[in-house]
Amino acid sequence: MIIRQPAAAHYGCSALHRVTWFVIAIPVLSVPLYSQLASTADALTTRPDLRKHGWLIVADSAQTSVQKFITKNSSRFGFADNDALEIIASHIDKNGWTHTKYLQHYKGIPIEGADVVFHADKSGNVQSVNGKFVIGLTATGATSVSVARARELALAYLTSDEYAWENESQEAMIKLSTGNAYATYYPTPTLVFTRNADTLAVEAKNLVLAYRVDIHSVTPSYAYRIYLDPTTGNELRRTSLRSGNCNPTTATVYTVYNGQQTIHTEEIPQSNPTRYRLYDPCRRIQTKYESNDVTNQGTTWYAALDGFTQAHWGAMRTYDYFQHGLGRPGGPLDTTKVMVQKLTSDIVGAMYSNGAIFSDDNSTSHCHDYMTNLDVVAHEWTHGFIENTLADLQNQGASEAKVLNEGFADIFGEMVECYVGSQSDQCGTWKAGGECTSLESNYPRNLKEPTASQGARTYCGLNWSGDVYAKSGVLARWFYLLTEGDTASNDHCCYPITQQNFIVVDGVGTTIASDICYAVLTNGYLTSASDFVDAGIATAYYTDLEYGTPALYSVINAWHAVGVYEGLGENACGTFDVYNSPAVAVSTRAYRTCIPPLGNGLWVKDNGHLTTTSGRYIHMRTGTRVDAGGYFHARIQQPCSTWVAKVGGTSVLESQLDSSLPLSHRTYPLSISIRPNPAHATAMLDIVTNRNVVVDIEVNNLVGSRAILQLGGVQVASGASAIPLDVTTLAAGLYLCLVRTPESISTCYFLVE
Ligand SMILES: [Zn+2]
Repeated sequence: MIIRQPAAAHYGCSALHRVTWFVIAIPVLSVPLYSQLASTADALTTRPDLRKHGWLIVADSAQTSVQKFITKNSSRFGFADNDALEIIASHIDKNGWTHTKYLQHYKGIPIEGADVVFHADKSGNVQSVNGKFVIGLTATGATSVSVARARELALAYLTSDEYAWENESQEAMIKLSTGNAYATYYPTPTLVFTRNADTLAVEAKNLVLAYRVDIHSVTPSYAYRIYLDPTTGNELRRTSLRSGNCNPTTATVYTVYNGQQTIHTEEIPQSNPTRYRLYDPCRRIQTKYESNDVTNQGTTWYAALDGFTQAHWGAMRTYDYFQHGLGRPGGPLDTTKVMVQKLTSDIVGAMYSNGAIFSDDNSTSHCHDYMTNLDVVAHEWTHGFIENTLADLQNQGASEAKVLNEGFADIFGEMVECYVGSQSDQCGTWKAGGECTSLESNYPRNLKEPTASQGARTYCGLNWSGDVYAKSGVLARWFYLLTEGDTASNDHCCYPITQQNFIVVDGVGTTIASDICYAVLTNGYLTSASDFVDAGIATAYYTDLEYGTPALYSVINAWHAVGVYEGLGENACGTFDVYNSPAVAVSTRAYRTCIPPLGNGLWVKDNGHLTTTSGRYIHMRTGTRVDAGGYFHARIQQPCSTWVAKVGGTSVLESQLDSSLPLSHRTYPLSISIRPNPAHATAMLDIVTNRNVVVDIEVNNLVGSRAILQLGGVQVASGASAIPLDVTTLAAGLYLCLVRTPESISTCYFLVE
């Protein structure tokens, strides 16, 4: 017996990582397995009923391990040198039995379908064997097409605008689902013996040598296994890797909320007259009532079943949105179940749990009839989608991650309503569960003006004390502002709207806005415990990478409009104290910035520094207090002139608004600007100040605020100075220039072309 380590795995089975790899070379069987073993009288017998199916039952007296069993019997079998058995998986059951699966190889080439499982009891003694051996195979195993050429040919046979290995999130998913950091959809042609058709028996006469190549495509969406002749390169056959008999029956149905629609169903075999059930075999969506199939005679469904057909249709459309609108094929699980349940104390409204969507069957008190509205189904589906992303945001409890999860679910619910176009009258209403009439079960929710449905529109603002659904309004409104754009105000300083109390957000449209949400989830820019500030950073990061400005400004301004600012520490919501520099730094390009930006009550003390940058106005809220020893620094940019105010030992009242800060506190005005802007090889930094001062100059890019140019200890004289900056090495884009004095930081944005 030869035991050796194989060079590479032949089968992409995750169990391979858990079993010890070895190969046992044994001669090939020349006659069927069971009759060979039955003729060895010392220890073996067979049971006729199993034997008919190729099983072998080993007599109790055999007392032999799998390896010994194979070694002992191989000589009697007359196996040839060209044959080997290779372990591909093993499993230990709850009784301690070990079931080990081997795949037959011929000349080192795997034979598809020729796998044999040895079952050994707790003591390791073989008790039975089943599976399929191939006997009498003769082939040279020679090829004239290389592996690389086979890959080229397969890709020529199966073209794609975007293969799965070219898609970042698909590649991340396969690594996640296999637990293998090197897993990839990039195809590796494998030489195999395969049958000419899956319907043929696993016998030598039906086997041919072929390259097997799996090709996964995102656009268009398909997954095929293609077999190529290794001599000619011709395609032998292909099979879909998406399981199931995808042969739906189209049916006409009535829905509760969306009128007459077309759905896919499945015929119930042998029913007469023919009946159909709510199962879409292509999208693999199954809609049930309790645990029962919902069925109908004929292909025009009874109107009385509209609650179920509504759910089924909604799940189909949601599937289509995720596949075609976002580029993510498949549902939350291989088969997505939509379970309509009797209204009980456990099931009120709708929920997602373990790959299934649950909706109650009696929401007449607040919605209509069934809680199976299109955006409700899409909402629950989104929870399942998020569970299968790298982000996997927490979906329980009251954390901000759960709040974000609910917010994304409402966002994609709205997007699905818009995706179906005229089939829904809810697109653009910005309501989740818009068909509902009261606030029971938290529906309907207003995404555009969440306060209209008892939700929060501002982080830490009105209704922030509500539940996760109320708080999710902050994310929903951010998305609305980002998508459509608006002149926005929030609860902290700019409410109610007056002439100057606003942040202008330019809309980027649904395609970009939904892609940003999709990417931060699937790419793992958010993680399971992410909060709102994380969401702000993640969306800005991705937007900067993917779309640059001005979309980046829209993302940031929309966050500011809902009260989410970067630079806020933990427990940013409510009263908090600033102790040590730079405990809190608020930087915004918003027109108006509030101090404190979140909630009421900020106390700067014990040498703490609060640094704030704003576009035009800074608004001091009642309760803001600056002790002797604490400092408040305010910088106004419009956009490249800066002044600094320093307030110490002062309680700041709401009446002291904006530019009414005492002039005496404008201690060291310093303005900076860059010319030309946009800059090319060399830029001039102009500094105007009223004293001689030593400054540090830094140029940062906007991603991760990384310093890429630094000049320390630069002498600046009172008056105007011009300092040359070499920007030759900077890539085109937007940069932030910082000039630090001992008391202040002045900033200015400029473009490099
Ligand atoms: Zn939810």
